[in-house]
Amino acid sequence: MVMGATHAVSGAVAGLVAAQALPADWGGPTSTAELFTFAGVCAGSALLPDLDTAQSTVARSFGPVSTLVARGVDELSLWYYRLTRGRRDPRRNGGHRTLTHTALFAILVSVGVSALVTAFGRTAVVGVLFVTLGLALRGLAGDWAKRNGWPAVTVTAAVLAALTWTWYPDEVGSRALGVAVGLGCAVHCLGDAITKEGVPFLAPFAAWRGRRWRELRLPDLISIRAGGAFERAVLGPLLTIVAVGLALWALDGVPEAVTEAVGSVRR
Ligand SMILES: [Zn+2]
Repeated sequence: MVMGATHAVSGAVAGLVAAQALPADWGGPTSTAELFTFAGVCAGSALLPDLDTAQSTVARSFGPVSTLVARGVDELSLWYYRLTRGRRDPRRNGGHRTLTHTALFAILVSVGVSALVTAFGRTAVVGVLFVTLGLALRGLAGDWAKRNGWPAVTVTAAVLAALTWTWYPDEVGSRALGVAVGLGCAVHCLGDAITKEGVPFLAPFAAWRGRRWRELRLPDLISIRAGGAFERAVLGPLLTIVAVGLALWALDGVPEAVTEAVGSVRR
């Protein structure tokens, strides 16, 4: 798989674009706080699918709690794989890269999270943000997280979520937060699909020659090596620049500040 940081940054880019594009009538963000929450949730959700094995780094985000959750998701995914397996799909002993790496999962979590936000408002928003920020930190600041351990990740995510609580508008207009989660999952799958391993994105619905869990991937010639030179030297930095640019653009008042600065230089 591509590195955690690449997943998280591509999630942030997708989240920042979608937050601007999603109409307010459809539950899109209407304030800066909501916009950044949407993007943060999307960044963290771009690591969510790997919470299907206790072996992944992201499973260590919240220590024993997330490891236990990952083990449960692993079992559930394996059960679902066996239930829906086609005649010629291989036997499996683990659920990693199955259920949570499908469009079905992305749609289900989108609907689930949006329903939670509609029912519980700001409490649900901040809860979702706390969990996804923990995952994002683990992905973005992998070395820092490894050095300081899961308690540091948990506390940092909690503080950031609490700050957002005070910053967030009382009236939650952005009910479509689930879209950020689903989009993040889809971005994760895209990232996995451009490496040589591939993902069963359309399973179990795309039945073909006795197989329901066929993996989608790029041809060897154009696929990239996970953690390789292209990812480190080109893709990673490029996505980071785009993410920072989009974030600055989204900040209220920044465009004016830039024009003013340019104006003062001219003068
Ligand atoms: Zn994955």
